[in-house]
Amino acid sequence: MAEVLVCTPKSLPKDKWIEAAERAVRVNPANHPRMEKLVRAMPDIKLDRLRIAVVTAKYWGAEGVKLTVGFLDNPPRDLRKRILLHMNAWAKTANVQFVESKSSPQVRIARIDQGEEAGYWSYVGTDILSIPKREPTLNLQGFTMQTPESEFHRVVRHETGHTLGFPHEHMRRELVNKIDRQKAIDYFGATQGWSPEEVEQQVLTPIEESSIRGTAHADPRSIMCYQIPGTLTKNGKPIVGGRDIDKKDYKFVGAIYPRPNKTSNAGKRNASQRSRSRSGK
Ligand SMILES: [Zn+2]
Repeated sequence: MAEVLVCTPKSLPKDKWIEAAERAVRVNPANHPRMEKLVRAMPDIKLDRLRIAVVTAKYWGAEGVKLTVGFLDNPPRDLRKRILLHMNAWAKTANVQFVESKSSPQVRIARIDQGEEAGYWSYVGTDILSIPKREPTLNLQGFTMQTPESEFHRVVRHETGHTLGFPHEHMRRELVNKIDRQKAIDYFGATQGWSPEEVEQQVLTPIEESSIRGTAHADPRSIMCYQIPGTLTKNGKPIVGGRDIDKKDYKFVGAIYPRPNKTSNAGKRNASQRSRSRSGK
């Protein structure tokens, strides 16, 4: 049986972290971490700019997401359409739109299947703005029209979640316990440049204990659950996360990027309530 490929988190090189975090806060001020909360959670840690950059969120603006999408290796039209369709699955409850474009697309999809760039990955949210224009921001190793529909649900929607700014959800303790700690520290150190402490925070802290992050909505069936390759688990089997956008994911994305008709209706309602109460006076 071929091994199930899982998502490899993709973060920017360390020397871009501060600049990218500052940009994220410009795009959406709510990305800035809540400092009191941080200080309470980590009283002994010096909160320098790098530390703050690490915990800065990468969501797009609350007015919604409209991103152009391009393909770097010229896939056939039916495949491009199918990928776009699954990316736009997030639009069911949210103000999110992905549109194909050939002129300097913001999301750049590749299907690299060899070397360090192989696998399934995407940079997170506004981080894609820090990637050089000719380089991919999202990789779907080996995707073709023959790829099973279930993989489009599991992989394309997950990677698109990253592009929308969602990080990985922490795993439940029973899953974290399946990971070989030392292998994880070596692997994420080599592939992401994470310190052992960062691997502890990002991968080895179960969801039950990771509430300090504040952004995650504890949902073990989320499409954004952490995925771990079989090389890092004690039993050699990969940990495969959620297989599709679930109800809580849909609710969460709708809260982060509310549909405009919803807000404008609410706005109208409020306005008419206001005018009613004014006229009632
Ligand atoms: Zn992922």
